[in-house]
Amino acid sequence: MKERFCKALESNNLAEMRKIPKGDLHNHLPRGGNKKYIEEWAGVKIPECPKFKDLDEMNQWNAQYIKPLFQGRLGYEKRLEAAFMQAKLDGVELLHMSVSIGEEAFYDQSIEDLVKALKRIHQAVAPDVTFVPEIAFLSYIPIDEINEKLDQYFAQDYFQSLDMFGDEFAVPSFKKVYRKAKDKGLLLKAHVGEFGSAELVKEAVEELELDQVQHGIAAASSQSIMNWLCDHKIQLNICPTSNVVLCRAADYNVHPIRKLYDNGIRVTVNTDDMIIFDQSVSEEFFNLYHAGVFNPAELNEIRENAL
Ligand SMILES: [Zn+2]
Repeated sequence: MKERFCKALESNNLAEMRKIPKGDLHNHLPRGGNKKYIEEWAGVKIPECPKFKDLDEMNQWNAQYIKPLFQGRLGYEKRLEAAFMQAKLDGVELLHMSVSIGEEAFYDQSIEDLVKALKRIHQAVAPDVTFVPEIAFLSYIPIDEINEKLDQYFAQDYFQSLDMFGDEFAVPSFKKVYRKAKDKGLLLKAHVGEFGSAELVKEAVEELELDQVQHGIAAASSQSIMNWLCDHKIQLNICPTSNVVLCRAADYNVHPIRKLYDNGIRVTVNTDDMIIFDQSVSEEFFNLYHAGVFNPAELNEIRENAL
């Protein structure tokens, strides 16, 4: 497979690259869908996203161009369908995709019905994709509410991973939540080191006992924390285009993923919000290759890390 992957890269063959097994371990379900698929369904052209100075700006853009396309349960299920379709079209064999607490609202607050829909659409659209359902929660939600909902999500015996996003500085308050998820055997992740510091990455991994970090790129600013992440075998699930669009990296050629890799940290390449950034895992490999960040063999190693 390595030879096939390297050849696809060197010959700039996207169609061939799409057939090669990949993982996408950083993907938020409502925004994970294939843009063309949605455009054809909705009969609209979604503009190319500009660069955003922060998440607020991105959310405003999303509210203007994406959200109005999806109404109610039907719209939610179209997002789901488009996300599984995206994975299938891009040869993503392992998909970690997160459902955020609150999305049960599309099912009259029934998490059981939400899970039924996830199972049904996964089976209908991409049964060959290994799907790891992830629960995500926004750190701004009151902690009691998170705890209550999480218990209900855990009771489904379906979700295999936990992720947190929002305020990176809120990490210490979620220690108990993560301990509970750990007892349930879930894979532990959190968004940290995207806007925050290297120190916050280390703190989150220690306090929450994370297995993997979503982004974590700020770690590149500290040699000791890079060494620490390497020693503790903490994987960073990085989304290069997301980082460039949100001005976390000036461009691909200066993206810290190279430095993190050179310091022995296990990294993967992922999509984050496909419907906004519109770069598949395959395209992310080409982006890094064309920018001269990695050679084909290195990118193949990164591809294998995810699998
Ligand atoms: Zn993310």
